[in-house]
Amino acid sequence: MTEEPLLSVRDLKKHYPIRKGLLNRQVGAARAVDGISFDIAPGETLGLVGESGCGKSTAATSIVRLEEPTGGEVIFNGGGRSGATRNADGTHPNDVTRFDDRELKAFRRDAQMIFQDPSSSFDPRMSVGGAVAEMLQIHGMSDRHRRRAIVEDLLERVGLSPEDYDRYPHEFSGGQKQRIALARALVLNPELIVADEPVSALDVSIQAEILDLIADLQSEFDLSLLFISHDMSVIREICDRVAVMYLGEIVEIGPTDRVFADPQHPYTEALLSAIPTPDPRSTAEGIELTGTVPSPTNPPSGCRFHTRCHRVIQPDDVDLDQSSWRGLLNLRDALAADSVDVDQIRENFRTGTDTGATPDAVKGQIRREFDLEETISSDEIESLLDAALDEALGDDLDAAAATLSERVTTPCEERVPQRTSHEPGHESACHLHERDRSAPPNPADD
Ligand code: ADP
Ligand code: MG
Repeated sequence: MTEEPLLSVRDLKKHYPIRKGLLNRQVGAARAVDGISFDIAPGETLGLVGESGCGKSTAATSIVRLEEPTGGEVIFNGGGRSGATRNADGTHPNDVTRFDDRELKAFRRDAQMIFQDPSSSFDPRMSVGGAVAEMLQIHGMSDRHRRRAIVEDLLERVGLSPEDYDRYPHEFSGGQKQRIALARALVLNPELIVADEPVSALDVSIQAEILDLIADLQSEFDLSLLFISHDMSVIREICDRVAVMYLGEIVEIGPTDRVFADPQHPYTEALLSAIPTPDPRSTAEGIELTGTVPSPTNPPSGCRFHTRCHRVIQPDDVDLDQSSWRGLLNLRDALAADSVDVDQIRENFRTGTDTGATPDAVKGQIRREFDLEETISSDEIESLLDAALDEALGDDLDAAAATLSERVTTPCEERVPQRTSHEPGHESACHLHERDRSAPPNPADD
């Protein structure tokens, strides 16, 4: 990107305080957005993608300042103030996070937001034309006839008709309401639209129509677009570049075609493999994303994805089958979290067999639940595992976790990965790409 960006987000953070007790003391924070950075060029569409709960909506509302960011900068060069340089104190005159009320009002004209649920974004008692025209009124257009003419024209441009002006929201389908939301977002001639899952609430058959409309309007109005979705196939339709978000952080960013053709972060790989392929001959094996996004209140150390990663790194002197390695880490973490229910496993055995739950049978069952082979290929780790399982059967899960932790640790949990550049504009943050690391075999490549 050689052009000046329209929007530069720098190390943006939004932490929600967690309060407890009578004094409402802050006892922690949900780090919903935890230091994200990206640029959007004029006329460009950047996708922001990730599972539910990873912080996409919080990023959106923090950028347009519907929420107050906890830290970082949002530099917006709209309104003819481009080329501005920093103030003597290092702050930026175009930093949205520092705008006063007057500047914020001007910014709200230039940057509009569209939400997922078109039904909740309209007042049921106001005609849709009135809802769109209200924007013009708020921003100083007093001529009622002029307002109406502009809105009628815009309704046509979003695929409705001028006669729809006097109708009420309940008379429209979800897709039509999203068209009206687009008209309302466009009426002040903004430079940026932040669209948070704008098609996720719509029928699949309608989604493509609305995506096409957004793409058309974007080029017609020369808009920059931050397009948020949890759905990689929607991102592919509409975005020039894509940023992949996991647990408050951006783990990969790059041109959409490059990220899809050659994903660099295992999380991106997993999201891509979840897209259904229309080609039945495709041999790409799905990478299962197990578990849910961990809580942002207490994110995993090091690389935040290490608790779910199918490529999680083994220590230099360990060389196990990758799925056994994943299983050992999962077992270690489950033991440490006290979430291996040995009694329940024993009980299941009692009812299922007449031989009863011998220690070996219970240990075998735990291995199966964690995808571990009957015998781990490393003698050293096999004997640690066996000792840990004995401790687990003796109800000392902490000791079992400690025993496994003697050898079952990963570099991924020890250090935060740095961003690595793969090709111009394509970066990811994964230890596999840091120098002198070779990739472990990908279970899906075999
Ligand atoms: P996404 O849009 O990607 O689904 P969100 O931005 O809605 O994710 O949420 C990110 C995280 O922040 C979630 O863990 C969510 O529970 C938390 N969160 C969102 N809003 C609040 C809030 N007002 N107070 C506390 N936590 C919140
Ligand atoms: Mg959301």
